[in-house]
Amino acid sequence: MDSAYRFTCPLANGVHARPASELEHVARRFSADVRVANERTGQVANAKSVLGIVGLDIRHGDPCRIATNGRDAAWALESLKVFIEQKLPHLDDAPALVEVRPGEVRLPPVLRQANATVTPGTVVAGGIGMGRAFVMVGFTVPGSIPLTGVEDIEAEREKVEEGVGRLLSHYDARLDAHDEGEEADVLRAHLSLARDPEFSQAIVHAIRDGGCTAAGAVAEAESQFSAMLAATGSALLQERALDIRDVCRALLREIYGTALPPDEITLASDAVCVADTLTPGQFLALDRRWLKGLVLAHGGTTSHTVILARSSGIPTVVGVAGLDAAALDGQDVVVDADLGVVVTAVTDAARRYYDMERRRLEQRRARTHRFIARPATTEDGHRIEVAANVGSAGDVTQAVAGGAEGVGLFRTEMLFLARKDAPSEDEQFEQYRRAVVNAGGRPVIVRTLDVGGDKPLPYLALPKEDNPFLGYRAVRIYPEFEGLFRTQVRALIRASAFGRLQVMIPMISCMDEVTWVRGIIADEQSRLSGAGLEFNREMPVGAMIEVPSAAYMLGPLSEALDFFSIGTNDLLQYFLAADRANPRLTTLANPLEPSFLRLLYRIVSEVHRCGRWVGLCGEMGGQAQYLPILVGLGLDEISLASPEIASTKALLSGLSAAGCRRLLERAMQASTARDVAHLLDERDHWTPMPLTEPELVRLDADCHTKEEAIKAAVDLLYAAGRTDRPREVEDAVWHREATYSTGFGHALAIPHCKTDAVVASSMAVVKLRSGVDWGSTDDQPVRTLVLLAVREADQATTHLRVLASLARRFMHEDFRNHVEAEQDPAALCRLLHENAESD
Ligand code: PEP
Ligand code: MG
Repeated sequence: MDSAYRFTCPLANGVHARPASELEHVARRFSADVRVANERTGQVANAKSVLGIVGLDIRHGDPCRIATNGRDAAWALESLKVFIEQKLPHLDDAPALVEVRPGEVRLPPVLRQANATVTPGTVVAGGIGMGRAFVMVGFTVPGSIPLTGVEDIEAEREKVEEGVGRLLSHYDARLDAHDEGEEADVLRAHLSLARDPEFSQAIVHAIRDGGCTAAGAVAEAESQFSAMLAATGSALLQERALDIRDVCRALLREIYGTALPPDEITLASDAVCVADTLTPGQFLALDRRWLKGLVLAHGGTTSHTVILARSSGIPTVVGVAGLDAAALDGQDVVVDADLGVVVTAVTDAARRYYDMERRRLEQRRARTHRFIARPATTEDGHRIEVAANVGSAGDVTQAVAGGAEGVGLFRTEMLFLARKDAPSEDEQFEQYRRAVVNAGGRPVIVRTLDVGGDKPLPYLALPKEDNPFLGYRAVRIYPEFEGLFRTQVRALIRASAFGRLQVMIPMISCMDEVTWVRGIIADEQSRLSGAGLEFNREMPVGAMIEVPSAAYMLGPLSEALDFFSIGTNDLLQYFLAADRANPRLTTLANPLEPSFLRLLYRIVSEVHRCGRWVGLCGEMGGQAQYLPILVGLGLDEISLASPEIASTKALLSGLSAAGCRRLLERAMQASTARDVAHLLDERDHWTPMPLTEPELVRLDADCHTKEEAIKAAVDLLYAAGRTDRPREVEDAVWHREATYSTGFGHALAIPHCKTDAVVASSMAVVKLRSGVDWGSTDDQPVRTLVLLAVREADQATTHLRVLASLARRFMHEDFRNHVEAEQDPAALCRLLHENAESD
């Protein structure tokens, strides 16, 4: 008997390859026949076929129906319902573009005058890469392999069947070796396509009824399914044609072996791949040590190739029209995915521009790097630990290498998601043990399972709720799934023998929950102890403060718990009653809302009054603009994504804790988040920076033009952390330069600007190896430039005074000679500083 269930497609991008392959995965577990229908178009497909599902062109809001028929039909339907309600809504591949900038690009002055060929495109993975172009062409079956005229139909069909079998084992083996990350997701999608019954049927049909050989039949199937995807009109689905091409290519390789041209392209030096389109398989076959960039004429923004390029950090520009690929082969090419252009016919000047860019980025990185090994403190010596948020033991190694002083949040649900059943005690123990070992003696806060709400676990089959964020999730489900929780607790207790492991409970809202959890932990500890196991009996147990009620129970909670960590993501949404995932509420859900700051202040002071430790592990901790507030709160720790750790420590070193406390006091008295943002802009809480310092001096710069010289000076500001918007500073300088040349005569220039793109008024000095034309009053080439970038608020004081003083001093030949002769950056800074500040 047929059982059916109706639903509306919740995915903004419709049911494309990934959700389709997950749906197929669930359907395949049952012997029942499963059909899915798009009631908008009236089409029906086999739910065990990804291609069938994809071909239904199910778009956002389409009414759909799923029906099962056969022995286990009822069970199948129940599981599919859970999948559709809980998992499907989270399977959208939102096109997570780094940036898209088609069409016109405003080039920086140096590049504008470099005379190279600059072609704009759409940026899908950021960065800058340079190398020799090699052109990848599409795959065609060699003429030596016939496409038709098969004699023994059965033998040909068997050849295909065996090939598919080998291909499936091949994908399985690769997935066994590599089961996490984007590459594994792509392999899984390819595996689903390769075992798709409609795919096999199309091939067999072409052999039986069309007289095709295996090669001809695979080519037929490829064009049939690509046409089907093209007909949907959806860019997202059209891009999946590349995956079909990959699977067809891989299948032909299994069938014909070495009769096909090799897949591998050997790279031995920096290279940029230029292609019309590139399949994910072709991308994976490239040696990513040498691959410095990708330029694709087509290839949309959401193809698997693009997703893989982004996760491998390969700068990629797509939609680049009008490049003569054949003429480019072997030529130098720059993929500038910061500007959104591809640079060809690379001139010396363009090469110098990119050398400068490389230097600029390397120097900034090197500056940030210095903070990796340093303890995080403010300029006035206030200590605040900077820890990492992680999702696996492997992440811990990376975090420590990036400067993490501990792990502030290990989200263990990552170990439970995307699998058929919960990980065993031993599996978990191994992860937690490795996490503390990888942390090398640093504390590791492991949060127990936080599922439900926005993190459904299909195998727990949690009931659908109208309001999941206020529902059955995290610590609230532990009593029902006590076995699951006890398993995790045992694994944690065992791992505590290997390092500084701390256990943290999510979503605590009242004392009873803590009492229950502590009871279970004590119970498991005594059992393990009875079994003679070694572990840390003092293992700290703490709680997330992410439900507002907990903020008003900190006295009793502190008696039962050792530490706390504030989860601002949930705390903010519950406190302001603003769903954290609702884009319409982002203005309301602002962590700078004065009421929220008061709540945070209450939590930190109350926990400290009770003699306990408190950190913060929500997204607020990872956003640089909030750092002064977090320091002002007096938190013991902040925990954030590991790539930001060293730069956060660098920023901390410039903050005054006393200034941050004053800032927080004023912020809590403010009426709106906007007012707080203005207080942050005043920058009174930053330690004043000297006008200049040795890092802002460059001697012996090899610049050929005024444009390069100005860029060299602005790059110093960037490398020293005085601006994050160097192009804005450069524009401001050129804006000033347009009124009249700042060439002062006597081989000197004082380019200057007013801009809040610098964090402090700054003076940079560049001495040039050889003079450049500046349009100076005396027509002499400039050999020394002193660039002055002043914040708007300082303009009345610093700007005019410094400019006037320097101009007066430079009138004197002695002073000029002194500046020119001085080769020690520190001495030069002193000299300029003293003279710039005097009258
Ligand atoms: C939080 O709520 O701030 C938090 C860190 O937990 P999650 O984002 O995992 O809910
Ligand atoms: Mg949370």
